[in-house]
Amino acid sequence: MEANSCNIPASVGINVPARVNRETKPEASIVNVAGVEVGGTELIVIAGPCAVESQEQLFDTARSVKKWGARILRGGAFKPRSSPYSFQGLGEEGLKLLSAIREETGMPVVTEVMDTRQVQMVGKYADMLQIGSRNMQNYPLLKEVGMTRKPILLKRGMMATIEEFLLAAEYILSQGNENVILCERGIRTFETSTRNTLDLSAVPMLKRLTHLPVIVDPSHGTGIRWMVPAMAKAAVAAGADGLIMEVHYDPEKALCDGHQSLDLDEFAQLMSDLRKVAVAVDRKISVQSLSED
Ligand code: PEP
Ligand code: MN
Repeated sequence: MEANSCNIPASVGINVPARVNRETKPEASIVNVAGVEVGGTELIVIAGPCAVESQEQLFDTARSVKKWGARILRGGAFKPRSSPYSFQGLGEEGLKLLSAIREETGMPVVTEVMDTRQVQMVGKYADMLQIGSRNMQNYPLLKEVGMTRKPILLKRGMMATIEEFLLAAEYILSQGNENVILCERGIRTFETSTRNTLDLSAVPMLKRLTHLPVIVDPSHGTGIRWMVPAMAKAAVAAGADGLIMEVHYDPEKALCDGHQSLDLDEFAQLMSDLRKVAVAVDRKISVQSLSED
């Protein structure tokens, strides 16, 4: 990395690959997710359950997060669970539910794709494909989604350096797909009081090294519901282009990640607080959904 005019390096000696490099393309990239622009002045909140569990659970949660200003709906249909005996997701049935609620609310949907064989099928239903932390270095999968023109939400591997993260994004761009959004979601450290250590320093670092939009996931980043609001606000203050958060209409009953999911009232309160933080850093959160009520 070249030194700037003050002779201060942009980073402590990492190599930024060509296509993602901000030196190659100084202006910030905006990724258009079915009409929602990520990377512009508007702060984009993606919210919804960790996993799609049922029509009622998804639809109630989706209607509520939309009401409070979320612009994109999340929900996993194929879940990468640590135990093979845990709920694995509803599969294609879950994708159909996502697609149905998208029709009703107009909110684009993002969902995880875990396998090269699923890319086409998941792409039929979703507006954005999520590559999960565990698959950040699944190179065949990165190439496969790189061959589509769908927006890709690339989550940082839980043990990946910033350089490895950027190289993973480069795989996607190298196949011709430039619609990549990076997501800091916490890394593994010696710390055990939180599920992961949310590396907020990754936000200004990535914004400096790459033109790609950067969002933060404080749900997986902490693993603790009560910590999510504080870290969400901190992420916006640090310059994130958006947030992805797990919200459930009844977190105690969630089949996946309930302990880190906000309930509907907590989400409403957080959105109101985030609006103030956004203004302080010259961003805004759409009020479009609120005013429709
Ligand atoms: C998720 O978003 O539910 C998920 C599994 O995320 P990650 O890949 O960051 O663990
Ligand atoms: Mn989850």
